[in-house]
Amino acid sequence: MTDCIFCKIASKEVNARIVFENERVVAFHDLFPAAPTHLLVIPKQHYTTLNDVPASEALILGELMTTASQLAADLGVAEDGYRVVMNCNGNGGQSVYHIHLHLLAGRKLTWPPG
Ligand code: 5GP
Repeated sequence: MTDCIFCKIASKEVNARIVFENERVVAFHDLFPAAPTHLLVIPKQHYTTLNDVPASEALILGELMTTASQLAADLGVAEDGYRVVMNCNGNGGQSVYHIHLHLLAGRKLTWPPG
């Protein structure tokens, strides 16, 4: 999608601190971290919200999760714990409309979220 900031990060049109990439996904540091570790894991394919991922393409959602757990292990935060979350639409707090999994770690996270 031409006007999507995360598509531009995936295509390297816009810089980001990328920590992992393969043919399908990219992971990079959040520009405004909400925790000592705050990464975003995105599909290279543009999906506007979680609502736009058809069941036939659900594999990509699993890959976002397994990429996050592998990154947590690589960063040494897996044992202490971390949170993965995907916000959807306005009430869910989504602000960038290209799906992304947040990986948050490095401090005690509170629950429920605000
Ligand atoms: P959302 O609110 O949609 O769940 O999360 C969007 C996230 O993207 C936010 O945590 C925000 O800080 C981050 N973000 C927004 N614009 C950029 C950007 O241009 N680069 C990076 N690396 N992160 C961004």
